Amino acid sequence: MSKRAEKTEINYSFKCPICSEGKIEISKVTYDVPDGDKILIIKFECNICYYSNNDIIPLTTNFTPGIMKLKVTNEDDLKSKIYRSPVGSLEIPELELVVNPGPRADFYYTNVEGILFRFENAVSIYRKNLEEDDAQIEEIDKILQDLGKALKGEFKFTLIITDTGGGSYIIPNDKSKYSFEKFEPKELN
Ligand SMILES: [Zn+2]
Repeated sequence: MSKRAEKTEINYSFKCPICSEGKIEISKVTYDVPDGDKILIIKFECNICYYSNNDIIPLTTNFTPGIMKLKVTNEDDLKSKIYRSPVGSLEIPELELVVNPGPRADFYYTNVEGILFRFENAVSIYRKNLEEDDAQIEEIDKILQDLGKALKGEFKFTLIITDTGGGSYIIPNDKSKYSFEKFEPKELN
């Protein structure tokens, strides 16, 4: 990966909301993204229960609206970083996964694996609530099976972010699997 971590610094800390014993330490890292932009990643981590969370702030955001596509064919691709802005929609057609635009803070910054885990969890809960003779079960089980393979890098799929406002990112582990298609002004309302 050609991105470069510039600096890490810890500014201040606060009490952990999960274990209420540890201290949440905040570290900031600035990255140069391959397309020339800069992003700031803020990491929160508890020193006792290891609860952690990330947030990301684009510093020189490329606000070009468009469609970003990432082909995922192996385990390394699962580590590609994903930032979906509140106006971006995210989909994986092969797994029937669609995340519509919306200000879901916990979905802002993650990697492909994180998205799959979250989806697997949601589908599993949905599956548990179905009656055993529900007609959807076969289809749901097929999705869960494919998701399990996807998490091991054994299921090929394409992750697509459609962003009409710009500001979403995919930071691919393998640049050759990434493509960006700019919206022409006439396609925007
Ligand atoms: Zn804690």
